[in-house]
Amino acid sequence: MAKLSDETRKALRTRTRLVTAGREPAEQFGFVNTPIYRGSTVLAPTVAALHDRQARFTYGTKGTPTTEALEKAWTEIAGAAGTVLAPTGLAAVTLALMTAVKSGDHILVTDSAYGPTRHFCDTILARMGIETSYYDPLVGARIGDLIRENTSVVLVEAPGSQSFEMQDIPAIAEEAHKRGLCVIMDNTWATPLFFPPHERGVDLAIEAGTKYLSGHSDLMLGLVSANPAWWRKLRSTFDAFAMCAGPEDVFLALRGLRTMELRLREAERQGLALAHWFKTRPEVAQVLHPALPGAPGHDIWKRDFLGASGLFSIVLNPFSSKAVAAMLDGLELFGMGYSWGGYESLVIPFDCATYRTATTWNPGGPALRFQIGLEDIEDLKEDLERGFERLRQAD
Ligand SMILES: *Cc1c(COP(=O)(O)O)cnc(C)c1O
Repeated sequence: MAKLSDETRKALRTRTRLVTAGREPAEQFGFVNTPIYRGSTVLAPTVAALHDRQARFTYGTKGTPTTEALEKAWTEIAGAAGTVLAPTGLAAVTLALMTAVKSGDHILVTDSAYGPTRHFCDTILARMGIETSYYDPLVGARIGDLIRENTSVVLVEAPGSQSFEMQDIPAIAEEAHKRGLCVIMDNTWATPLFFPPHERGVDLAIEAGTKYLSGHSDLMLGLVSANPAWWRKLRSTFDAFAMCAGPEDVFLALRGLRTMELRLREAERQGLALAHWFKTRPEVAQVLHPALPGAPGHDIWKRDFLGASGLFSIVLNPFSSKAVAAMLDGLELFGMGYSWGGYESLVIPFDCATYRTATTWNPGGPALRFQIGLEDIEDLKEDLERGFERLRQAD
């Protein structure tokens, strides 16, 4: 087997890229996968080599062949200039923010952002003298009206955490770039496979690798990719923090990468099937799934996204919290717990009204977020049918 030429590699289609990216069997004695390199010290053969600033590996915090394999693969898949890895998705969010802010700045964060992202802005960034304004996720090009003299970042996330609003990212990016701002996106839901972030105007794109890249609920990892304008700054911020991902987690993420497209396509198929089914249920008032025709944000999804993952929400008709607990407590296939993107189905109740500040959340009934896994859809429906029965009985 000949080594992939740069020319061939450039022309590869996504699925082939997922199989080939970040692998050099010829450098690993012919073994297919890059192994786990553990290590702190990297020995240099000479004084000159020790001082060589271009050396590929110099110390554990700067990377190993294992971390480099995932960085390179993600860079290819995200269409980025470079990628850094972080120990969690939240660490990736903080690394992206720390790359683009300084004391005295003002930043704009979507009101639909992942909760712990808000917490970081409201505590650590506030303590550093950086002010955060939350904005309506549906703001679109009107984001320009919110930009101040000292605004440095617009953070977008689509669809919104829990509530699934879609954002017009190309329009927001265009306004932000007119004023020289950095556009940071939490792209965990779509992954670069279903939303190519840098092509759509994003400067720094975050992925919680804990979710679909892992795919098995057995690791924590974050990734930040950058376009050419922001890559050097991102890498130097990463080097300053040395907030490194663990080698076993990176190895498992590389394994997950090879099947990520297949798992995402299946999550999309299963999730949409259940979303359609929920729409027919008398207990359900609204299905918040951007890939579902007629759902909020569907037009933007259709224009900008290439697929959907298996995470979405529903709003029930008014039922008591006791009835909702009876429904959820008795589920036998849907686990209740945080995170998502694994092979197993999950559900959580949520209420955005407890933390939103720029928009009101009043959907008219209790809301549930579902992550649809790889179980047989008929078994999932039967579990939910029994749940709906308990919901009605307990109300
Ligand atoms: C889970 C999640 C994160 C954080 O990832 P962790 O690895 O759990 O820290 C960030 N953003 C979004 C949208 C997430 O769903």
